[in-house]
Amino acid sequence: MFKICDSHCHFFSSRFLEILTKDVADLPADDRSGAVAAKLGWDAPGTAESLADRWAAELDRHGVSRSVLIASIPGDEKSVATAVARHPSRFVGFVMFNPMAPEAPSRLASALDDNGFPVVALFPAMHRYRLDDERVSDVFESARARNAAVFVHCGVLSVGVRKKLNLASPFDLRLGDPLAVAALALRFPSVPVIIPHFGAGLFREALMAADQCPNIYLDTSSSNSWIKYHPGLTLDAVFRQALAVAGPERLLFGTDSSFFPRGWQLPVYNAQLAALDAAIVSPDDSSKILGGNFDRLFPLS
Ligand SMILES: [Zn+2]
Repeated sequence: MFKICDSHCHFFSSRFLEILTKDVADLPADDRSGAVAAKLGWDAPGTAESLADRWAAELDRHGVSRSVLIASIPGDEKSVATAVARHPSRFVGFVMFNPMAPEAPSRLASALDDNGFPVVALFPAMHRYRLDDERVSDVFESARARNAAVFVHCGVLSVGVRKKLNLASPFDLRLGDPLAVAALALRFPSVPVIIPHFGAGLFREALMAADQCPNIYLDTSSSNSWIKYHPGLTLDAVFRQALAVAGPERLLFGTDSSFFPRGWQLPVYNAQLAALDAAIVSPDDSSKILGGNFDRLFPLS
């Protein structure tokens, strides 16, 4: 009954798996991504084109109109750009970007201008930089100049695929602070800023940031298992509180879907729908959260 748009899905392409495991020795050179997928118990992603078609069919199967696809490792922009070009009415591309990497400005310009990504995704805890670094302001300035948005992962960060492959993940969680995001959002009021997973454990800080900055959005994605850090907290209470502070226009439904055969995470959708119901959210507000806000942020051209 609602138009559903998913604001948080990862495009785990063959190239993504190749870059992720570039330092792993015991993989065959001729089918690295296939071997990694087999290790993980995943279906091999195949070409970006075939994976894009598979996601489009998966969205159809679940009645999902549109979805974000995050290029989830620096260097995999092309795969997501290919998917978006193939299904422009279905997919919106986010690009994971490390502002501290060599030649960052030209890489960013290429992602925004050549590939046309409307959102730059920052993972400060993963790439270990401070959000008050000038190079992060430069990202916001580039986004502002192109009417793009910025996504900033805050709070607890655990990347399932890295864990499963035993890849070292020396993340510094102190660096993903919604209050540091708020300082940037205030300086760049025309740039929409998305904080995923309600702040992923820094819920209070995410609410403070959203309260102070009308350009901050919260995405609702994942199983939201961070609520275990808050004694007695429930997902419906999270929705109620987020609505009370940020209002219905700034919550973006998402699942955090990422690989096949699992595909689109229907259980996450069902849990959030039940939470919206338990929180007695009106159908009008629910429809904004589940898809309307997405369409407003990412209008179909
Ligand atoms: Zn995610």
